[in-house]
Amino acid sequence: MSGENQQFATRCIHAGQSPDPTTGAIMTPIYQTSTYVQTSPGEFIENYDYSRSANPTRTALEANVASLEGGKHGIAFSSGVASLAACIHLLKSGDHVLLCDDVYGGTFRMFNNVFAQLGIQFSRVDMTDLDATRAAMTDQTKLVWLETPTNPTLKVIDIEAVAQIAHDHGALCVADNTFASPYLQNPLALGADIVSHSCTKYLGGHSDLVGGILLTSSSELAEKLHYVQNAVGAVPAPMDCFLLLRSTKTLHVRMERHCENAGKIADWLTGQDGIERVIYPGLDSHPQHRIAAKQMRGFGGMITMTLKGGLPASRRFLETLKLFSLAESLGGVESLVEHPAIMTHASVDADKRAALGIDDGLVRLSCGIEDAGDLIADLEQALDAAKTV
Ligand SMILES: *Cc1c(COP(=O)(O)O)cnc(C)c1O
Repeated sequence: MSGENQQFATRCIHAGQSPDPTTGAIMTPIYQTSTYVQTSPGEFIENYDYSRSANPTRTALEANVASLEGGKHGIAFSSGVASLAACIHLLKSGDHVLLCDDVYGGTFRMFNNVFAQLGIQFSRVDMTDLDATRAAMTDQTKLVWLETPTNPTLKVIDIEAVAQIAHDHGALCVADNTFASPYLQNPLALGADIVSHSCTKYLGGHSDLVGGILLTSSSELAEKLHYVQNAVGAVPAPMDCFLLLRSTKTLHVRMERHCENAGKIADWLTGQDGIERVIYPGLDSHPQHRIAAKQMRGFGGMITMTLKGGLPASRRFLETLKLFSLAESLGGVESLVEHPAIMTHASVDADKRAALGIDDGLVRLSCGIEDAGDLIADLEQALDAAKTV
């Protein structure tokens, strides 16, 4: 089902999927198979030959998420970082990649500790500063990697403007759309060449799998990425593809509630005296609020804040929360909280962390879809406890 004219909610549920032709099963089966019978050497029944190359459950997932991002092609991987690695395999030694400065910690780690050794150069720049971004482009820059909203400081980057800078220099623009999800933001429509997702987060939405996917409308890029997917081989298992298909059916409903809860919580936090600063793209006080309003349909479920009292206060706060579970990751139906300096961003140098504002009082919330009043009550009792240290 192509569904090009259908609305987002309909595509969530139907895109890429049709009843199984042999049994009428309405749900795409988990094709738990490694290989496929050939009728004669090289003659396949449905073009499937081996499950690293392609698997029907994965095909359905790839078509589904491609449709949600408004792309023509989806290429799924076993994790978000495997998607990233596949993009880098489009490059060669000596090429340069420009990253936004507070890129996901694992993305930075891969460039710094894995790809730098293979001769892929990289540098980082604050992409909310377009002049600085333009100035950071070199003759070797082949790829511009942006993430918006960024992690953990939720900076909002103007995707259209940065894609234009990349294209002016003949480079590709890749947008990591994990924090927004395809429901809130579609970078391909704003000029990005490739969109990357960690499916582990909002697409999966239930904290029960790890996965990644790339989306593009370029058949040339899709062909190269499919080649890498098969040649390097970090493919997702059929069961995980099935779980993701089940998850994307409710993406639109979940995202609505994530945004609604986060908006209420951000408003409430803003008035609290134990808190120095609340960062949420939906607040007027957010430095790029207008860009967020321009390119996003809602402001997402992530909130970052700075507690007064540094590490002792934030530690007490994190230990006292009951409904918000202290864990890495985000985007699940249950609310999570984490401490970037100690947890997700430990691999970023201390001075770089300081420059990005990732200090010991910084706490990141992933607002789930529980009752907003219960979540606020939980935050309130933990803030009260943090004030006593
Ligand atoms: C989690 C995350 C990744 C990495 O994804 P994995 O599925 O953990 O490999 C990449 N980018 C962002 C923004 C993320 O939050």
